[in-house]
Amino acid sequence: QHKCQRKRWFKRRLTFGRVRPLQLYSCTNLQETSQELQSGGDRSYPVPREYFDRVTNHHINNIEQYMLLYNHSILQPDEFWSDKAKQVLSWKQLWDDQICSFNFDVEKGPIFCEWFKGGKLNACYNCIDRHVEAGHGDQVAYYAEGNEESADIRGYTYRELLDYIERLASVLKARGVHKGDVVAIYMPNIPELVIAMLACARIGAIHSVVFGGFSAESLANRLLDAKSRVVITCDGYKRGEKIVPLKTVADAAAELARETLGYNLVEHKIIYQRLNSKEHTATMDGHVDEWWHEALSKAEKHCAIEWMDAEDPLFVLYTSGSTGRPKGIVHTTGGYLLYAALTHRYAFNYHPGDVYFCTADCGWITGHSYVVYGPLVNRATQVIFEGVPTYPSADRLWKISAKYKVKQLYTAPTLIRSLMRFGEKYVKNSQRDSLTLLATVGEPINPEAWKWFSREVGENLCPIVDTWWQTETGGHMILPPPVQGFYQKPGSASIPFFGIVPVVVNEKGEELFGECEGYLCIKKPWPGMFRTVLGDHSRMESTYFKPFRGYYMSGDGCRRDKDGYYWLTGRVDDVINVSGHRIGTAEVESALIAHGSVAEAAVVPAPHDIKGQGIYAYVTLREGEEPTEELRKALKHAVREHIGAICTPDVIHWAPALPKTRSGKIMRRILRKIAELGTNVTPNDLGDTSTLSDPQVVDMLVSLYGK
Ligand code: ATP
Ligand code: MG
Repeated sequence: QHKCQRKRWFKRRLTFGRVRPLQLYSCTNLQETSQELQSGGDRSYPVPREYFDRVTNHHINNIEQYMLLYNHSILQPDEFWSDKAKQVLSWKQLWDDQICSFNFDVEKGPIFCEWFKGGKLNACYNCIDRHVEAGHGDQVAYYAEGNEESADIRGYTYRELLDYIERLASVLKARGVHKGDVVAIYMPNIPELVIAMLACARIGAIHSVVFGGFSAESLANRLLDAKSRVVITCDGYKRGEKIVPLKTVADAAAELARETLGYNLVEHKIIYQRLNSKEHTATMDGHVDEWWHEALSKAEKHCAIEWMDAEDPLFVLYTSGSTGRPKGIVHTTGGYLLYAALTHRYAFNYHPGDVYFCTADCGWITGHSYVVYGPLVNRATQVIFEGVPTYPSADRLWKISAKYKVKQLYTAPTLIRSLMRFGEKYVKNSQRDSLTLLATVGEPINPEAWKWFSREVGENLCPIVDTWWQTETGGHMILPPPVQGFYQKPGSASIPFFGIVPVVVNEKGEELFGECEGYLCIKKPWPGMFRTVLGDHSRMESTYFKPFRGYYMSGDGCRRDKDGYYWLTGRVDDVINVSGHRIGTAEVESALIAHGSVAEAAVVPAPHDIKGQGIYAYVTLREGEEPTEELRKALKHAVREHIGAICTPDVIHWAPALPKTRSGKIMRRILRKIAELGTNVTPNDLGDTSTLSDPQVVDMLVSLYGK
């Protein structure tokens, strides 16, 4: 029977092979083949049947319906997006006749993209007011889980949020904040951070959230770049065992900005009190600083909504800085809000009443789209977590999931790998039977980590939704939809979301068809797309649109398999060229991680006399493993066996830890420099390390060079 199915599959593929622009054609074939199908050498797994036994309400019933919707979205985008915009959002006034206008071709003029121009709405109204007006004021919007573990459950209802937001918005207005001003927010991941964001949105101010772990210098650069005169911050907060003196850092940043400009940029600081009087050391400057609680208690209770054009900016957010100087990515109101909400709804099959938990900090785009805007538009109840997953112990996430009966959990591969390191016992300690869907973002998820997540955390009952997207894209672009009849492939972000037309191009910018590998680009505009880089539109054009005429260039490499699935292979700047063969970093790293003793791996090119570039691998071992010569050999052997001799690492550098950005991504550009230490590179040439979460890791790695 198996044979017969395979045959039919091949026959079908030929007849369906030419359907365009639908690129999902072979999903239908996949459904009809057996689970054992070895597709492109990668095993596929259906979305677990148990998921559909346990969850009975679905926005999308099956893959056929997904494909119909997808086709509709790209063949009749105007109709599709107009319907969705009316369904998902509340508009004060509908847009002018044109849903979208754009230019992606640098030779035809400036790059731009506009959605729903002329439409009037407000993001805060869509996230909060309308739910309260509709009688859902008492529904919990956020359960706030602090750094310290406690049995208490502290919920913020939609009505409470509205009250705080209106007061804070009144305070901002009274301090002279106008529509279009940029307000910096520098806070830990607590509901007050969300309140601050929405207070800005309510009055049309643009928020610029700076992750609460950044240094004074990083904050100062962002204040200067966006010319922020008002900063909302905290006295300090606890992260694990450590106290982070946020106010002191914010003061230092304001001082740095003053030195740079020669005058005082920061005129007001509003300080939320998070520490108790013994812990905090904040000194208040009466001219500039005021306490949040004092200001709010005296503030006007109501604050009118500023109706914004769909194309008015909602926020600016700086990218992680994995590849260089961070870019201030600007998102606008209408398109972004719709796209964040729609992706949140469909990717996680979210329905009001479900408790959803995204572990990301609001300092990153994932927090903006999937802790704040998307879920709130969808009237979600969620957990917002201030602490770290390993404090007080490595079972914190699973305990939180059990405590609040979390249904959908959205996290990052780096976090999964770091928890894998501690072994399964921490997972098994906890009850996770409320979890129905698991999701990841941030990096390619290695198949080994995918399987561990699915098996150990999800008990093989949950779909794994691996979402590929970027700060620039505003929301999910490629993901495996959790629908009946869809086959998941561990390590593949799978297929495009509605309205997204991904293409793979070669070095010359020519579109490739069928099975192929190259640069991942996007061909058509989508509502959640960023509009510019703050204060530097030419940087937007040159970074994303000049490399390949007519396309948005993502900067990521990717392979499309014969079933039309997309596999992210790493950033194109990181591709290693060994004797003329282009090797993606993700694949080699996954092969290393597949070895039982490896917790994490990062692969970079290093100069090589014969091959041009050699493969240099940094390896972090699991707890209890010893770095020996035998293990080195075994790892090289494992890679050779797994993907071929050409990919064998030339060097294995033992790494007790890897340098990561604050959002947890491995910073390969620094690793590349360390790998070049043997040449004329010195430890002083390592470049900007200011966005690293722990700069000391770099010194440690330098000291282990050649050992
Ligand atoms: P910078 O642009 O400053 O270098 P960054 O690219 O790390 O920083 P983000 O926008 O936070 O900033 O990250 C987007 C990038 O993360 C993507 O371009 C991709 O490389 C990676 N990424 C995110 N999700 C996935 C995923 N599911 N699979 C593979 N890669 C992913
Ligand atoms: Mg990027």
